[in-house]
Amino acid sequence: MASIGFDFPAPQADASVDELRREVRSFLDEEARQGGFVPLADCWCAGIDPGFSRKLGARGWIGVTWPRRYGGRELSALHRYVITEELLAAGAPVHAHWIADRQSGPLILATASEAVKNTVLPEIAAGRCFVALGFSEPGAGSDLASVRTRAQRVAGGWTLSGTKLWSSGAQSCQYMTVLARTSERDPQQRHAGLTQFLVPLDSVGVSVSGIRDMSGVEHFNETHFEDVFVPDELVLGAVGDGWQQITNELALERSGPERFLSSFIVLEKVLQAHAGSMSPQQARVAGGIIARLRGLRAMSLGVAALLGQGRSPDVEAALVKDLGTRFEQDICERLREFGPLRMQQGDGDALQDLQVDSMLRAPSFTLRGGTNEILKGIIARGMGLR
Ligand SMILES: Cc1cc2nc3c(=O)[nH]c(=O)nc-3n(C[C@H](O)[C@H](O)[C@H](O)COP(=O)(O)OP(=O)(O)OC[C@H]3O[C@@H](n4cnc5c(N)ncnc54)[C@H](O)[C@@H]3O)c2cc1C
Repeated sequence: MASIGFDFPAPQADASVDELRREVRSFLDEEARQGGFVPLADCWCAGIDPGFSRKLGARGWIGVTWPRRYGGRELSALHRYVITEELLAAGAPVHAHWIADRQSGPLILATASEAVKNTVLPEIAAGRCFVALGFSEPGAGSDLASVRTRAQRVAGGWTLSGTKLWSSGAQSCQYMTVLARTSERDPQQRHAGLTQFLVPLDSVGVSVSGIRDMSGVEHFNETHFEDVFVPDELVLGAVGDGWQQITNELALERSGPERFLSSFIVLEKVLQAHAGSMSPQQARVAGGIIARLRGLRAMSLGVAALLGQGRSPDVEAALVKDLGTRFEQDICERLREFGPLRMQQGDGDALQDLQVDSMLRAPSFTLRGGTNEILKGIIARGMGLR
């Protein structure tokens, strides 16, 4: 149904989607039972476990929508959705491959040379190659067009210099997709003159240093590029087309179930702990959360359906991300109705640790991937209000 600029069609599922869900769920149950992973809050950002990513790759659960010749399985966006949804619901440690599966792989597929596609995509699909995002910089986050990282033409390629900030998981990635300025800034055309590069992070002149967040982990990084040589074959797309490319990429970055399921494992564990003993007020809180969850899930599935139709649903994705990230923050607060929370970890109470962890990570939910104020601007434009 088309309405005021939005469209959330119901996706067409078939038996193979349900079958895949059962397969993934039973693998995860077995892994958790055997101690293969400990469920984490915000697992798609907090859980870096390359060995676990390799296990998923071996089962063919990374890059599932890509062509077979590049290691994919030519499955639908809905098949991919189901895999990601199950991984998130279980709190599995999926960060290592998450970004490459979600957006860098599709970007490489759409813009890289045949040689790069043949080399990199099968490695990503196998869970052996990980990619970080090099968008933000000191002074360029929401206003991404003001990036100052610069690439200058030299024989056979480019020399890259600058600093990228908040690069999630870069310490365990082989590559970073870097947005850089390749021609002088034109105040009349702020989005022109930007280009994307696929930069091997073991190149001479690259240094990655961790930044500790308030949950105590070094999840994101500051990455310096000092006269780093990048060969022509690692330019992604046409020189100067970077802005259009990242617009498409951001639709993938913002549209998945990770934008409302980051606290799901905490919700599940708290409700399980209180099953059969909830007060009427607690039952009301639980009911309210689940109702919102169902609505968001229907909208998010609609975005998967649009992706499956080859569309770039940036407005719908912005809407789901705005509502979804507030929801996943809200879960952390509302679960306080189920008992007081001591902001302390390591007391031997696993549920308390999980809840505290999610509280400490929650402020980032509405920042990463574009802040909610920026998303509201995109939504307003989609509604014709700007
Ligand atoms: C956990 C986490 C992981 C991240 N991972 C990555 C990553 O892997 N790669 C990467 O490149 N970046 C990453 N980021 C960076 C993220 O994309 C930026 O933090 C975000 O885009 C905001 O940019 P900023 O931090 O520079 O804030 P600013 O842009 O300085 O914004 C500060 C405040 O001003 C508001 N504001 C800014 N402009 C406007 C406007 N026009 N209208 C209304 N309000 C406005 C913002 O909403 C915000 O509240 C990550 C961030 C977090 C928190």
